[in-house]
Amino acid sequence: MSLSEFELIKRYFTGKKIINSHVRLGVGDDCALLTVPGGYELAVTMDTMVEGVHFFPDVAPDDLGHKLLAVNLSDLASMGAEPIAITLALTMPKVDTSWLEQFVEGFGKLARSHNVDLVGGDTTRGPLTLSLQAMGFVPVGKALRRSGANPGDLIYVTNKIGDAGLGLKIARGDYDAGPENEKVLRQFNRPDPRINEGIKIRDYATSCIDLSDGLLADLTHILEASHVGACINWEKIPFSKAVHHYIKETGDWQMPINAGDDYELCFTVNPQKAELIDIDCYHIGFIETGPGLKLNKAGLTQEIASYGFEHFY
Ligand SMILES: [Mg+2]
Repeated sequence: MSLSEFELIKRYFTGKKIINSHVRLGVGDDCALLTVPGGYELAVTMDTMVEGVHFFPDVAPDDLGHKLLAVNLSDLASMGAEPIAITLALTMPKVDTSWLEQFVEGFGKLARSHNVDLVGGDTTRGPLTLSLQAMGFVPVGKALRRSGANPGDLIYVTNKIGDAGLGLKIARGDYDAGPENEKVLRQFNRPDPRINEGIKIRDYATSCIDLSDGLLADLTHILEASHVGACINWEKIPFSKAVHHYIKETGDWQMPINAGDDYELCFTVNPQKAELIDIDCYHIGFIETGPGLKLNKAGLTQEIASYGFEHFY
């Protein structure tokens, strides 16, 4: 990119007031400097989104900015980490100032609401590709991992699932939820990372993951990492009115537990600690000795594979 284009981009990312007290030096030098308080560990995660692969070319730039940050903050949430700072790499075919303004607005608003500073980044020319790295702190030894689930543990999700999967269908023009369209699309475009929930449950949860690939796939990650199995109860899985309606209308009951992008947390708790749970959540099943994931639906318990899930959304 030409120097003037760099100058233009710099305008959007530099000179912002630092809001997080752990950021000693933000954008402008060769590195940013963060102070890691004694007794804490640094949690680091990164996600890349490519136009045409991870988002539609016509997506609203502020929604895209929000989502890019939200998916990374969701990874910090799933480990019980408190977000501190982010770095951003932007590859763009050309400098589009109105696009940039809206993009920065989308992620800036979410960043401020979680007390997070943008502390560095890079810009290059190429097909639209966005990479964001997020950093957070978690007390030493307290990070929630996928590997801690034990037989007998209760399985929870933080909120209703399936709306993002339905939102994707609406965005593609494959489904119409009528008056619910806007609400459902919002869940798909603007997920709300469960930071506060992650911080609260780190004191008593045994394992945790954020739902990016779908309940079945992500819970399976916990089961594999923990060397256990699980049984979830269909009737206990929370769905919105729109998802219930979708299932009734289409018969496609597999979508909400198979589709991704919900960014709710799925976590496990030893039953003796269940009384400590201090967040809104839904109990959907139990960890078993295993292996494998079973589903109880209408009184019948079967291995997930026996239900004939044909494809992952
Ligand atoms: Mg994740």
